[in-house]
Amino acid sequence: MTDRYVVFGNPIAHSKSPRIHGLFAAQTGQDMAYETCLAPLDGFAATVTQFRATGGKGGNVTVPFKEEAFRLCTRLSERAQAAGAVNTMNFSGDEILGDNTDGAGLVADIRRNLGMIITGKRVLLLGAGGAARGVIQPLMAEKPAQLLIANRTEGKATALACEFSGCAAAGFTDIDGTFDIVINATSAGLSNDALPIAGSVFAPGALAYDMMYGKATPFLQLATAHGTRCADGLGMLVEQAAEAFFVWRGVRPDTGPVLDLLRAG
Ligand code: NDP
Repeated sequence: MTDRYVVFGNPIAHSKSPRIHGLFAAQTGQDMAYETCLAPLDGFAATVTQFRATGGKGGNVTVPFKEEAFRLCTRLSERAQAAGAVNTMNFSGDEILGDNTDGAGLVADIRRNLGMIITGKRVLLLGAGGAARGVIQPLMAEKPAQLLIANRTEGKATALACEFSGCAAAGFTDIDGTFDIVINATSAGLSNDALPIAGSVFAPGALAYDMMYGKATPFLQLATAHGTRCADGLGMLVEQAAEAFFVWRGVRPDTGPVLDLLRAG
């Protein structure tokens, strides 16, 4: 019987995950189906229970349910515990294993697809929400020379930096120095808001990375005006999916051709 997976979210119709996992399954010859699942805002747990009852094998979790999924899982991977959020669930008997593949996806995209070594680099992480939290431990595991977390609400950046040793925190207007990798993990691009940061944060040869995709955000426009190399979050999306696919199927798909197809439209 074909194994069934879904991505739980609200809204969810826009999700590219069914296409990505469909391409992975075709490429690796896995007998599986993957669809979207719209969960009511007050009915995430019930929707998961219903899907499991019909034989569902696992799922991805997206906005706004990642923290609720974290609380629902009966076992958590180390990286899910560090992230405080779950984006991948695997169902096995009574167990719901919760994992978080977002950080691994970001690191894989920067290292493999963009060819940038993080080790020894000065990294600036903009934002202190769920996406920022999820990538801190995987970034620190690469041993950057520095990881500075900056956020509009400075107290949230400070609280995050206290949780992960070796990080520092700042408000946007107190950012000091230049950085080799600048990652925008805020949702400011959604509303087309510019961040109050100076173009001088980008060191010569730096990478400006926006976790949002499909849009030249004001952050990427600032980096471009400064002559800085830019990347959006589509590669992260494909890489986190590949990591989830590996959790479920024990097979690692080749992400390059899938990313090329998505970029082609
Ligand atoms: P959250 O709502 O948890 O956090 C939002 C963050 O953005 C906070 O730090 C908030 O600051 C900041 N922010 C929001 N609006 C503004 C603004 N106008 N100016 C400055 N800062 C602002 O969101 P997430 O962390 O879950 O998601 C952040 C982004 O990452 C989204 O765009 C999402 O699409 C993207 N993402 C991409 C993924 C991928 O695979 N490519 C995976 C996961 C997320 P404050 O604390 O002051 O409110």
